[in-house]
Amino acid sequence: MKHLSGKDSQHMLIIDKDEPLVATLTNFATQQSLAGGLISGIGALKDVELGYYDLHNKEYIRKTFNEMDYELISLSGNISLKESKPFIHVHASLGDMDFNVFGGHLFEATVAVTTEIFITPLGVMPERRFDQCIGLALIS
Ligand code: ZN
Repeated sequence: MKHLSGKDSQHMLIIDKDEPLVATLTNFATQQSLAGGLISGIGALKDVELGYYDLHNKEYIRKTFNEMDYELISLSGNISLKESKPFIHVHASLGDMDFNVFGGHLFEATVAVTTEIFITPLGVMPERRFDQCIGLALIS
């Protein structure tokens, strides 16, 4: 991973081929003590695990995509505090070689080519607490 810091404490991360995306973002947020922030990015991913939240059953339907490298058309999400630790919540839109687009909640993926990620610190610490009705830790 390469890291550039810009003005206003913005960060650009270049996460390299074969590195885990979400784990690398989590490590970065922990090392930088980033408790709150906005995440956006583009690149290419492989071995992607996506989720669709089934509210009725209060659980994620999970699916792994590992048939090819996928364009990371858009990564969007945030950093918050969950159980006193930085927590990465990101959604991904992916494109395949037939130019179909799909996406969902991103559990983890491996970088296939490169990723270019931007993180903007929020200056506040949004905190997640478990919501019984929804079945997830929501920003409270
Ligand atoms: Zn999500």
